[in-house]
Formats: sequence, C-alpha cells, structure tokens
Amino acid sequence: MPKTFKNFIAGSWVAPSTGTHFENRNPADTRDLIGRFPDSGSADVQAAVRSARRGFEIWRRTPAPARGDVLRRLGDLLVRHKEELADGMTREMGKVLAETRGDVQEGIDTAYYAATEGRRLFGHTVPSELRAKWAMSFRRPIGVAGLITPFNFPLAIPTWKMFPALLCGNAVVIKPSEDVPHTTHRLVELLLEAGLPPEVIQLVHGRGASAGKSLVEHPDVPVISFTGSTATGSFIGETCGRMHKRLSLEMGGKNAQIVMDDADLDLALEGVLWGAFGTTGQRCTATSRLILHRKIHDRFLKRLVDAAEGLRLGDGRVDGSDVGPLIHERSRQKVESYVAIGQEEGAELVTGGRKPGGERLGRGFFFRPTIFAGVTPSMRLAQEEIFGPVLSVIQVKNFDEAVRVNNGVKYGLSSSLYTRDVNLAFRAMQDLDNGITYVNAPTIGAEAHLPFGGVKQTGNGHREGGWEVYEFYSETKVGYVDYSGTLQRAQIDNYDD
Ligand code: NAD
Repeated sequence: MPKTFKNFIAGSWVAPSTGTHFENRNPADTRDLIGRFPDSGSADVQAAVRSARRGFEIWRRTPAPARGDVLRRLGDLLVRHKEELADGMTREMGKVLAETRGDVQEGIDTAYYAATEGRRLFGHTVPSELRAKWAMSFRRPIGVAGLITPFNFPLAIPTWKMFPALLCGNAVVIKPSEDVPHTTHRLVELLLEAGLPPEVIQLVHGRGASAGKSLVEHPDVPVISFTGSTATGSFIGETCGRMHKRLSLEMGGKNAQIVMDDADLDLALEGVLWGAFGTTGQRCTATSRLILHRKIHDRFLKRLVDAAEGLRLGDGRVDGSDVGPLIHERSRQKVESYVAIGQEEGAELVTGGRKPGGERLGRGFFFRPTIFAGVTPSMRLAQEEIFGPVLSVIQVKNFDEAVRVNNGVKYGLSSSLYTRDVNLAFRAMQDLDNGITYVNAPTIGAEAHLPFGGVKQTGNGHREGGWEVYEFYSETKVGYVDYSGTLQRAQIDNYDD
C-alpha cells in the first residue's frame, strides 16, 4: 500500500485542507507508485505563512553561528544518508545514481559552506566624515522566504535556497516540484533532526497554479526565490513586481559547447556526451547546441554519433545505465514535437529522434539520444529550450562566428569552449554572454562556493551559491554611533571647522 504523505505546517505533519492528493510515480517504470502527496490549496499556504511568521521571531534572534551549527549537523546527516537519498531521488526523478549522488553532494557542500558563513555574514565598518562617530553596515534577516523549486535537481536546488535563507535568519515556506516531492520531504525530516526549530520550516506540497501561486501572492512573504522555466518565471515576476517583493529568478537555458580546430577532440567528445545527454538533457546547464569549427566538423560529428548510439538507456538504479528517462510523458511529447519541428525546418536528423522499443523501456518515459546536424542559428531547434536529450550541431568558420552564434539566443546560462589557445580561452570568458563559461570542460559542473546563475532571460541579476546569495536573503542596514556628545551635522559640519 503506497504511503500518503503530508505537509509540514506549524510544527506538525498535516493533511492538506483540500483533502486531495496527487501521485508520484517512478518515470523509469510507471507501475512503481512512490506515494500520494498533498494537492494543497490557498488555506494550506495561509497556515504555513502564519506559522513561519512565528518561527521567524524565534530564528531571527538565534545567533548566526548557532544557525550555522544546525546546518553543519544537517550536512553530517546528509553525508550519513547520501546513498538512501540518491536512491530515492533516482526513483522519483530518473537520472542515474552517479548523478543523484552528485546532487546530494551538492547539498552537503552547500550545508557546510552555509555553516561557516554563520561566522561571517560580513558587513562593513568604514570611517565617518565626522569626528567621534562610528559608521558601519550589517546584515539583517528579511522575514518569510517563499521558495519554489523545479524537478531536475530535487535535493541540490532546495538546499541552494533553503540553507542561505535559513542561515541569514529567515523562516522558510517551500513548495517543491510536484514531480519530485519525496526528496524535499526527506530533506525537511533531516532538518528537523538536525535541530531546526519546527516553525522555522514549512513544507507545502502542491501544484504551481494553486499552492505555488498562493505562496507568490501572499502579502506576508516578502522574498520569493524561484527556479524553473522562463515562462513560469515571467508570470511570477509580474506578481512580485506589482507587490514589490524581492525576487530571485533562475530560469531556462540554451547552452552551447564550442569546439575549435585545435581542440583535444577526445576530451571535447567526452564533454559533449556528458553535457548533452547527462540527466537526459534535463539540466538547466545542459549542452543543447554544439558549435563546431568547420575543419573538424565532419570527423567530430561522426565520432559523436557513434558514441551517442553506444549510450545505454535504462533505469538509473540499474548498473550500466547511462541515460535515464524523461520526467513525464508531457516532457517526452515536447521532445517529440521538437524532432518534428527540426525536420520541418530542414535540419538533418542523424541519430535518435524517437522513443526506444521493447517492454523494459516501454514502462518509462525514455527517449533516444538525438542529434541534428546542419542546424542554422535561427532555427527554432537552435533557439528554444527543449529540455531533453536533443543536440543541435551548428558549423562555423571561426571563433568570432562561434561567439555570435553562442550569443544569438535569448538565454545566457552557461557556455563552454574547447581549445588549446590561451588567448581564445580568455576572449571566450570576456565575450560569451553567459553567467558561466567553462574552458576545456562541459557546460555543466557548478561548485557550491561560487555564484551560479545566468544573464538575459535566464535570470534577473541575482545569483545562487557562493557568497552572493547571502546578500539576496538579507537586508543591508547601516548604523551610525555618534559619541562626540555634540550635534554633528553630516554634510554641514566638517572636521576643518
Ligand atoms: P516549471 O516552471 O514547470 O516549474 C518549476 C516550479 O514552479 C514547480 O515547483 C512548479 O510547481 C512551480 N510553478 C508552476 N507554475 C507556477 C505558478 N503559476 N506560480 C508559482 N509556481 C509555479 O519548471 P520545471 O519543469 O520543474 O523545471 C525545468 C525548468 O527549470 C527548465 O526551464 C530549466 O532550465 C529550469 N531550471 C533552471 C535552473 C537555473 O538555475 N537557471 C536550474 C534548474 C532548472
């Protein structure tokens, strides 16, 4: 009998006010029902926010190093439960175990980084214009942070948002993706075990259009952090703009790997296979365009097609699987629609383009690694985020053209250049319009202690990860202390008088 899960609100596990639930099934084998999760409504969000406001009053007064201690203990728990969490994550999300282990590791790294930040949260102390006056800035928590997360990094992305939000002293209401609710359920259990006061964290499961929307619209939630598609982000952005909320958006990508004629082609081949087909192409940083210098185009493409055809599709929990399923049937239909679009546009389908046959793979949402050659930069195939195992190959004559192609899309998350020319490497870092550029490495592989995010329609200027995210989740306050015992007037009196 599959379990029926609950929300975590006001310090207890509670059923949704709606009385309804949705199913969470294994995308590699839809006969496997993981559980039923609350299909929450506005009343659940209201209750969660009321409780979070109480939690905030306790947590904001807890010293930051003590808040950090909770996150350090959580890091220890994540280490201890790594294997179990990775297994559960693959079961609900589909990517192979090596990748879900990496997803947990990112949460561990984020926890330990956050723990040390509890002893920093630096402000500035600067000289005052006036005598006997002290001037400084410091950081204060903001209030209740509403966090909305996508399906593709079921543990890492919730930790990228929760841990800095909590470390800064905010209370949290999280609405995880309805496609992967179980991993966040486990994360909240572990946070409580690590000693987080219960009302500081609230977990509200549900769909975007109901629970997610209610959270964004709630007047007592001054901070929203969202990761997901650009379409959803635009919608959330309108509401937050109208309500003057602080908002962090991390959205879609159309990332390119550029391979120059002097590149180490073995390395570039490994890189593009990992970048394009890892996580079944469902990473925000996935390589969806391959920009090849014309001198190496034909031979590289041939090797790439052979290698892609050798990738083994399968359940991510079974040894030997290279590529897991897509997240759901809607996603597979979207990928199929882009295969049709590519063919109509005149691109050449060189491998894949369909779902695999057979009973084993027929139980899940599998799709063959797909490569289109002869793609031109303006095709929809080369412009729009597909979010599946589809790679578009574009031929260029030189580096400048590669830069123009890379930059000629509305997104700007990550990019990669394979070359042995150090001058080109540095030019790429300057000229590619992305939040992240990798040299001689694929478009994926962020590290927890560096800022992460994209330019153009991938983001709205904020960053997750590293030190910058702590500025997002805290307010800068300035304090002046005048110990002169006289009225000193800034800009009017000065020390020459
Ligand atoms: P999605 O936009 O469908 O959903 C993301 C979250 O938003 C879910 O929790 C969903 O329930 C919620 N949501 C949907 N409609 C909402 C609404 N009206 N109000 C409030 N919340 C709402 O995205 P997805 O399919 O889960 O994830 C894939 C997308 O995420 C891709 O576009 C990918 O590029 C992007 N992504 C970006 C990054 C990044 O850091 N830039 C990282 C991972 C994923």
